[in-house]
Amino acid sequence: MLDKLLFYFNLPSLRHAATDSGGLSFPGLMSLFANAVFAISAEKLSDLPPPDGAEIAFAGRSNAGKSSAINALAGQTRLAFVSKTPGRTQLINFFRLTNGALLVDLPGYGYAAVPEKIRRHWQSVLAAYLSRRSSICGLVLIMDARRPLTELDRQMLEWFGPTGKPIHVLLTKADKLTRNEAAATLRSTREALSPWSDQVSVQLFSSLKKTGMDEAESVIGGWLGHVTRQEKEMPPVKGEKNRGPETP
Ligand code: GDP
Repeated sequence: MLDKLLFYFNLPSLRHAATDSGGLSFPGLMSLFANAVFAISAEKLSDLPPPDGAEIAFAGRSNAGKSSAINALAGQTRLAFVSKTPGRTQLINFFRLTNGALLVDLPGYGYAAVPEKIRRHWQSVLAAYLSRRSSICGLVLIMDARRPLTELDRQMLEWFGPTGKPIHVLLTKADKLTRNEAAATLRSTREALSPWSDQVSVQLFSSLKKTGMDEAESVIGGWLGHVTRQEKEMPPVKGEKNRGPETP
């Protein structure tokens, strides 16, 4: 109930505000995910908040590194729960960004130890959420760079692709590959996704080394019409007026 109230009044959750530092990693500059706060959790579709704000959905195979990527982007260590037991977190978690948009952390899929009945339940929730939720403005699909495009990753693309909305693939744990291996993975994943090229973008990412953060923020920020750190740091093009921050 408290969470519901906090969500509707767009206030930070006291629970998370108390545990996360939430400090800006680049003080003074606009950062899309900095100071994100927990808003609400949903266990089933009927628990979802009304679809009236922009949502960025994060999905990925269990253990692919989704929670770590969310925490790295938000510059916080414990915003999304990094699970010691893959597949344990079975909730849809909503985090409120300072610009009012929501980051939606979807339950990880594909963990074999989860009972079949629960797996089927979550797959149907994911299918319905991804294919029908009008407020999603883009999907961030997290894949382990060592094992990209599993069957279930492709299933997510099949469910979300028909919406025509953008998908950004983070090939995470890129630090576990050599530079050549990482480049080859990026190339082959892009090639495999070329039939979706007008809708899908792909990049390398590492939560551990904090690489690929600006690129991710720039793509996702673009979906929300957000001025990112990168853009903000660039000098204005000659003749262009100095723009203030945009509101989505
Ligand atoms: P999730 O189940 O998709 O949320 O995955 P987690 O974020 O919990 O990560 C699963 C495991 O991979 C954890 O042990 C993380 O520490 C590790 N991990 C996540 N991201 C990275 C990364 O970029 N590099 C490395 N080396 N390990 C990572």
